[in-house]
Amino acid sequence: MFIRDSLIMSPKKITRKVSKPTREKKTVEQKPKPVKKTARLPQLVRGMKDILPNSEPYWEFVYNKVAGLAKDFNYGRIEVPILEETNLFVRSVGRDTDIIEKEMYTFEDRGGDTVSMRPEATAGVVRAYINHGMLNLPQPVKLWYWGPMFRYDRPQSGRYRQFFQFGFEALGDEGAIVDAQLIIIAHDFFKEIGLPVTIQINSLGTPESCQVFKVELVAYYRSRRGQLCDDCKKRLNKNPLRLLDCKEAQCREIRNEAPQIVDWLDEDSKNHFMKVLEYLDEVEVPYVLNPFLVRGLDYYTRTVFEIWPEGDDEEARQNSLGGGGRYDLLTELLGGRPTPAGGFAVGIERIVNAMKAKEVTLPPVKKPKIFLAQLGEAARTRALSIFEEFRAADIPVAEAFSKDSLKAQLEIADSLGVKFTLVLGQKEVLDGTVLIRDMEAGIQEIVDQRKIIKEVKKKLDQGEVGFNNK
Ligand code: AMP
Repeated sequence: MFIRDSLIMSPKKITRKVSKPTREKKTVEQKPKPVKKTARLPQLVRGMKDILPNSEPYWEFVYNKVAGLAKDFNYGRIEVPILEETNLFVRSVGRDTDIIEKEMYTFEDRGGDTVSMRPEATAGVVRAYINHGMLNLPQPVKLWYWGPMFRYDRPQSGRYRQFFQFGFEALGDEGAIVDAQLIIIAHDFFKEIGLPVTIQINSLGTPESCQVFKVELVAYYRSRRGQLCDDCKKRLNKNPLRLLDCKEAQCREIRNEAPQIVDWLDEDSKNHFMKVLEYLDEVEVPYVLNPFLVRGLDYYTRTVFEIWPEGDDEEARQNSLGGGGRYDLLTELLGGRPTPAGGFAVGIERIVNAMKAKEVTLPPVKKPKIFLAQLGEAARTRALSIFEEFRAADIPVAEAFSKDSLKAQLEIADSLGVKFTLVLGQKEVLDGTVLIRDMEAGIQEIVDQRKIIKEVKKKLDQGEVGFNNK
């Protein structure tokens, strides 16, 4: 299909390929097949989103910040597949979570295996840790990722069915320092991209202490069952911690008087949590102790945290930019050896949206200082190879080879604010020369084509190298 499409698009290519290189035989140009008009234009699948070049500066900026932090904190990049066995997510994220119950893209592949498009990446990272025997590496193993996730969620502002996350995971160490450092990385990231956030933090303790708390919580909510929303009535039996997550006004009022998990922490978890907070205080990372923060996934133990846009109201919670915590039991749950671990994930679309809304200034885009203009077919052809020579010499050059008029090209050169325009016409091609025009001074100079790189370098060296920092 792809091959056929590309043949239809470029009939000249076919002509060249199938014709023999003899002069006598004239090649027959194949006319492109008429494009069939279909009734309906192709549409984006609901919940999906194109990221266009005008957003790219934000994405690149965010990516560079994340990659820089990963380097500073010594995290190695890991790339795990989009498709995994469905069971991996069921076992890790939790059967009774919204993600597993309603949001996964799951299907049977042609071999009859049930697979899912990843709704998050931690499960895949832990699977890779087990599969590749990373337990034998010096611990903690520190990994970071960046890529698309898929959830069949109800699309709305800042909520898509395909969205990107980056995340940091540290596996193989139970120390509170790991939790604190993860939070510090998240904090530094938001500080460096210029987005004010609050870090909401809580501890869920161990599964045992959490179980005792859940009994208490269910007893409290049962006594108020009549006032709960329908979802919370179901949560009472299925997933009681999520009672604390409900956004319905009547349930939130009930929540305000509910027992608080910190009061039910076991001694070790309490000390662990205090240590995390102590570390954060030391580096003056501000946080809000949020007794209702439980996170949506089953695998969290002890420290949990979320990064909210400024404020700690319901709107901030709904627009959460990222979240994470410790998941000490996950590796074992997936069949590996017990491995304490922690991590966090951040949603990139939400960050980009927030940066745009806040009009965060991006670093200036580097623009080339040279423009290569051509006039006539022979010049255009020659210009192609001169352009390649500049690239090989690592000097960025702008061009508009599809334009015929010199005036139009000079206007583009002008709008780019280049310092020099190289002009190549019919005469220059025959003479083996190029005209260098100093755009500010308006002076022109004829230079031998073989010396053009050297000449341009010399001129640029008199200023900055290769770019306009406009
Ligand atoms: P989670 O994996 O649910 O803890 O989500 C971590 C972060 O990913 C959230 O704070 C959001 O920034 C982002 N996120 C989660 N779900 C979506 C979605 N459906 N669309 C866009 N971003 C999302």
